[in-house]
Amino acid sequence: MSFSPLISQLIEALRCLPGVGPKSAQRMAMQLLEKDREAGVYLAKTILEASSRVTRCQKCRTLCESPLCKICSNPKRNQSLLCIVETPMDILAIEQSGGFSGIYFVLMGHLSPLDGIGPNELKLDQLDQYLASGEIQEVILAISPTVEGQATTHYLMDMIKAHRKSVSQIAYGVPFGGELEYVDSHTLSHAIASRQLV
Ligand SMILES: [Zn+2]
Repeated sequence: MSFSPLISQLIEALRCLPGVGPKSAQRMAMQLLEKDREAGVYLAKTILEASSRVTRCQKCRTLCESPLCKICSNPKRNQSLLCIVETPMDILAIEQSGGFSGIYFVLMGHLSPLDGIGPNELKLDQLDQYLASGEIQEVILAISPTVEGQATTHYLMDMIKAHRKSVSQIAYGVPFGGELEYVDSHTLSHAIASRQLV
């Protein structure tokens, strides 16, 4: 037995989500069509609206629906202290730790030559211009200590030092090979507080 064309299409479409296999996609489709159609319509509308309106913050490149995100446009944030992270989820994790009052730059990934991700893909030219503007005094690198993350950290360190800025790297308590977004807020807060000059 196979599903009708439209149901099959919905199941296929749901599989674009991370961690969703054929069985989960079938269950989700059944839930949306059979049990809670209203929620399905709301989900569809929200996806459409978010897809058309969410863009990148002009300054830090995080995802938001205004030219500048809440953090970049907050006058109370220390605009001379820059923290470089890989994803918007990392910003969320650091914000929840409450240990950081500066601003961010989101790489949206890390250097990965085998996957064709180089400095251009991470918009490092934008970061370079940002550093050249003179606004930033100190940079903290908060990049996951994976092999590729470390390669990215070294690349960025050279770049930041070329601008003669003070640069530190979070270290304490972040497990080797770990993903930053999964570190608990207390550990992350300590990691930022105990950053070391490199
Ligand atoms: Zn921003």
